[in-house]
Amino acid sequence: MSQFKSVEYVYCPSCGAKIKDRLIDAQVVKVCAAQCGFAFFNNPVPVVAVIVEMPEGVVLAHNVAWPEGMFSVITGYVDPHELPIDTAIRETKEELGLAAYDAKWVGHYMFHAKNQLIIAYSVKAQGELCLNHELDAVKIIPKHKLKSWPGPTGQAVEDWLARSLSR
Ligand SMILES: [Zn+2]
Repeated sequence: MSQFKSVEYVYCPSCGAKIKDRLIDAQVVKVCAAQCGFAFFNNPVPVVAVIVEMPEGVVLAHNVAWPEGMFSVITGYVDPHELPIDTAIRETKEELGLAAYDAKWVGHYMFHAKNQLIIAYSVKAQGELCLNHELDAVKIIPKHKLKSWPGPTGQAVEDWLARSLSR
């Protein structure tokens, strides 16, 4: 996942005129000063998080860009015109090499630091793990030993665990 902060427009990316702030429905919107029609609303970016459950446990992965020892569920951006549930299945294949099935929605979470709307799913998967270039390590944690962590993906794991234990 990229580390970009939110975009700061100075010039209109459409016509090159200056950008100015305009208050629309109590939100500061970046609009084109030449009124070509460009407006940047800084809407949250949807990102899918996937709790991948294998027969042995839940897959947590280490991204190559992360500090050592930091593991989390896999995440990925939603492709144009893609349903988030399909993102979950595609990312499980791309990042872990696993065919996912039985995808279930877990919840929506806000990652404020990156203005991302995290859409969390759980999937079941089996087979042989094959990591893509984004990941360099994985851990499989038996479900009864899985602990959540601070932040939106950890909250998703906590909600998923609470729900599956109450069944
Ligand atoms: Zn413009």
